[in-house]
Amino acid sequence: MSLSDDDLAFDQRHIWHPYTSMSHPLPCYPVESAHGVELQLADGRRLIDGMSSWWAAIHGYNHPQLNQAATQQLEKMSHVMFGGITHPAAIALCRQLIAMTPEALQCVFLADSGSVAVEVALKMALQYWQARGERRQRILTLRHGYHGDTFGAMSVCDPDNSMHSLYQGYLAPHLFATAPQRRFDELWDEQDIAPFSALLEQHSGEIAAVILEPIVQGAGGMRIYHPTYLQRVRELCDRHQILLIADEIATGFGRTGKLFACEHAGIVPDILCLGKALTGGYMTLSATLTTRLVAETISNGAAGCFMHGPTFMGNPLACAVASASLSLLAENRWQQQVAAIESQLRQQLMPLAALPKVADVRVLGAIGVVEMREPMNVAALQREFVERGVWIRPFGKLIYLMPPYIITPEQLTRLTAAIAAAAE
Ligand code: PMP
Repeated sequence: MSLSDDDLAFDQRHIWHPYTSMSHPLPCYPVESAHGVELQLADGRRLIDGMSSWWAAIHGYNHPQLNQAATQQLEKMSHVMFGGITHPAAIALCRQLIAMTPEALQCVFLADSGSVAVEVALKMALQYWQARGERRQRILTLRHGYHGDTFGAMSVCDPDNSMHSLYQGYLAPHLFATAPQRRFDELWDEQDIAPFSALLEQHSGEIAAVILEPIVQGAGGMRIYHPTYLQRVRELCDRHQILLIADEIATGFGRTGKLFACEHAGIVPDILCLGKALTGGYMTLSATLTTRLVAETISNGAAGCFMHGPTFMGNPLACAVASASLSLLAENRWQQQVAAIESQLRQQLMPLAALPKVADVRVLGAIGVVEMREPMNVAALQREFVERGVWIRPFGKLIYLMPPYIITPEQLTRLTAAIAAAAE
């Protein structure tokens, strides 16, 4: 089915898109199909995808093995309730998740989206302390963090972006430490952890958990910080018996050059949130993993169970595709692919740092970020990118790439050249 002007007018008039106005909607590009690293527009133009649909489509679009997993599962059942029922797709997926994550993480909660995985993690931390008979209800987190758009998740997002002021009085008052300043490959400075450490010591008796995005703070500014910061956080949490929640929804599954970003620091969280690339970007699914200690403490508490159970929990279709996506990762081509993307991004984006309008360039794994000095006109820049045959969606002052791992050097050059032209 191809789209008419009438369809597009209907879209503008009736359908909300992410973070856009209903009265002054930004233009939307109609995509009819996607294959490999390309999105095909309704007018036949093909765009090289630099976004992996927001970190998710790591293997590219319309992947034969993922398609096959979906089709095979569809023929058995696309969904069945998870209360009192289990099924092979969920069991296979959870086996894989437990095998590929740190040994300590043994219990998996499957939910609908990244934001819900964060809600689940926060609720686990609260129920854990309740079961231990301690009233600990505050969460310590980092400025410039982003954890999702539901209320619990919003309450731990950076307090200075608009969401906190919008919902003031409604969001739980959590604790925000100065964001890490030391960059990933700079020399470590012990002072960097001092504000976090001071806040934690000051409130240690009230804090249920620390939540952070390990190594890469994504939507809150695409900041890439020093692994020692994360090591120090782990040490401080251990010293004060505070749970550490790692939100690897964006960073998980190889994006930063390690399977999970926590590996850069050699640390293991008590609770791990996964999403986005979990299904190779096919459909929404998240997983929150925790230790047997946390799971059993919660289960021995007053409620006798963990109080969460979404309708589509463990959706078989999503589990089957996720399982196939993890099998593709297990073939281990991602390591070489991400390393090659990283070295090409360094080579082609780093020189842009010398341009007068560019404030900073940073690269880690298959993530490349060009930070401009001034905020950009997103609609105009988007049009320019589309005219150049690439799909790159800037926000604020940031133009960034996180392409599917299967991108070729030629395709990646098209993306970096488009950014270079824009940055000039
Ligand atoms: N945590 C992080 C680090 C994210 O990047 C995101 C999504 N941008 C979320 C949580 C929320 O995930 P979702 O959009 O699937 O709810």
